[in-house]
Amino acid sequence: MAKGAPINTTCAYCGVGCGIAAQVKGAREVTIKGDKTHPANHGRLCSKGTYLGETLELEGRLLHPMLGERRASWDEALDDVAERLQSVIAEHGPESVAFYVSGQLLTEDYYVANKLAKGFIGTGTIDTNSRLCMASAVAAHNRAFGEDVVPCSYEDLDCADLVVLVGSNTAWCHPVIWQRIEKLRERRGTKLVVIDPRRTETAALADLHIPVAPDGDIALFNALLDAVAKRGGLDAKFLRDQCEVPEGFFAGLSGEHGVNPQIFAKLVDLLMERPRMLTLFSQGANQSACGTDKGNAIINFHLATGRINRLGAGPFSITGQPNAMGGREVGGLANTLACHLGFSEDERADVAGFWKTDRLCSGQGLKAVDLFRAVHEGRIKFLWVMATNPAVSMPDAGFVREALARCPNIVVSDVIADTDTAKFAHVRLPALGWAEKDGTVTNSERRVSRQRALLAAPGEARADWRIVCDVAARLGHGRHFDFTSPAAIFREYAAMTALAGRHGKKLDLTQWADCSDRDYERMLPFQWGGTHPLRHGFATSDGKARLIAVTAPKTQVDGMVLNTGRYRDQWHTMTRTGLSPSLSVHRREPLVEVHPADAERLALEDGGLACVSSAAGESIYRVAVSDGQVTGQIFVPMHFTDANSGGGRTGLLVEAKTDPVSGQPAFKNVAADIAPW
Ligand code: SF4
Repeated sequence: MAKGAPINTTCAYCGVGCGIAAQVKGAREVTIKGDKTHPANHGRLCSKGTYLGETLELEGRLLHPMLGERRASWDEALDDVAERLQSVIAEHGPESVAFYVSGQLLTEDYYVANKLAKGFIGTGTIDTNSRLCMASAVAAHNRAFGEDVVPCSYEDLDCADLVVLVGSNTAWCHPVIWQRIEKLRERRGTKLVVIDPRRTETAALADLHIPVAPDGDIALFNALLDAVAKRGGLDAKFLRDQCEVPEGFFAGLSGEHGVNPQIFAKLVDLLMERPRMLTLFSQGANQSACGTDKGNAIINFHLATGRINRLGAGPFSITGQPNAMGGREVGGLANTLACHLGFSEDERADVAGFWKTDRLCSGQGLKAVDLFRAVHEGRIKFLWVMATNPAVSMPDAGFVREALARCPNIVVSDVIADTDTAKFAHVRLPALGWAEKDGTVTNSERRVSRQRALLAAPGEARADWRIVCDVAARLGHGRHFDFTSPAAIFREYAAMTALAGRHGKKLDLTQWADCSDRDYERMLPFQWGGTHPLRHGFATSDGKARLIAVTAPKTQVDGMVLNTGRYRDQWHTMTRTGLSPSLSVHRREPLVEVHPADAERLALEDGGLACVSSAAGESIYRVAVSDGQVTGQIFVPMHFTDANSGGGRTGLLVEAKTDPVSGQPAFKNVAADIAPW
């Protein structure tokens, strides 16, 4: 790639979706600055984005196709994948094939993978690691709004008078949103409330921290709505004109919430004083066996008080991954067909007609946890894993490893040669990484931005979309996958969103359907649906939003409560951030955080080692005594693996318990024990 003017692209990491102005200095040397023109960050970056340039070395990269341990040509490897697929489909049927993909893929990669799986192989089982991240928010949106649509945007962060963070250590996990909140507080006197069982770095800086019980959010939001209703805080007109309310809904709200009465009263006062209220919710809400109900408890509050579709107000799900939104929009979840469409007869007929296929899958496929169960049981005979590391990141990771070891056909497309998952692969395909690939991503506020190639492809690495199209051609579907660029894929996807419009959905990218490669090349970040996409009505049959009656679950677990989460400077299983010396300084090893009283009671020494065990497994951590923990609760990070640590493998501890509506696994509120090691 030529050195020259800065190239505008998008950060590789989180759902904030910050714009980057990258300057290529050498073959693998890039300097990174924030893009001042990008509406998501206006030039700001966090530590992870800033040090992206330190992650571009080729050490550890997968640079050639591999059949087992043997280097192969692309033709050999692609023929092998196609033959495995053909033979499994012929012998066991299309539903014995599964894809497990990733929010790290670009929208164009996701689109062709979904089209191949659901449209031409005929399996509904293509699911994504986004299932672990925000599937419960998707389900809550679908129940309340009739569609998976986020009703807010970052502009709301410039006008809110009250920001409520639920289950989000925003200062660490979405740092540029955090910088925006801090600025808002300075400029406008906005109050910040953090609802979180832990006193995180974010909670410590809040005006009010509500140390809610693990999974206590539903009881809390129901009680808040009850208290606000009793003080005349409902929006009767909005409720009458724009909502459908189940009978007896308001009578069922009161109940025990477990929060100190003075703190609860202070919070109610804030809610009454400050109707311009934005609630941002993230993994603490979603990664739960009742995550969908939590999302709806939050949305209920906003609907009943009319705090939605107005500047500075709304329930705002903030996503974890750079392209979690783009993936779910094209249909990369097993319970969506394509472009926000489901599996009704009409929707299936429209999609089959658009793709010109008679092989469309018959219905929805298996969600992540069930997918790996089916692999374990031998029902899935072919699994293609793209850009993710389920041997570490899935709950009950020991079980997932057993499943991978049993599967006769595993293909892994990745940038890294030896991930914990790649060890089980029969075929490894080298993919392009950030700074090499080209396409689009959609961030938490539905803003579509370009990722642009900065560097030449290393070794024989290829774009994921090209790999999928090459396999599709070998399966005899070449004319449906004859894309020559990401722009061509984006045009087809954009044209397909007209179907979503026909079924009353808000997703509409049709203005891009006729765009040229040149227009795509020059694409500026744009937000589909505008600032508040639901202001003209909801995508339900009668145009009204639905309040959903949700009840608090019994949350008591035996023993200690284990919660899991992220470190400020690390990302997922550290395959990228682990390469950066600057990012390794903040936290060098996996720590288990324990309250001082628990440490004393259990003879745990600060700096000593401890074994954390659960029904699923056990793992070793170094002890960090912290008064940010509540007694009876411990916290561990999610990032560490055999490859980067040897201890602290949190996936081994988390049972595969899922939300019954969304299928999202519960990574919080896990029953555990801890003892000196
Ligand atoms: Fe990248 Fe997220 Fe940091 Fe922005 S906030 S620079 S998108 S990691």
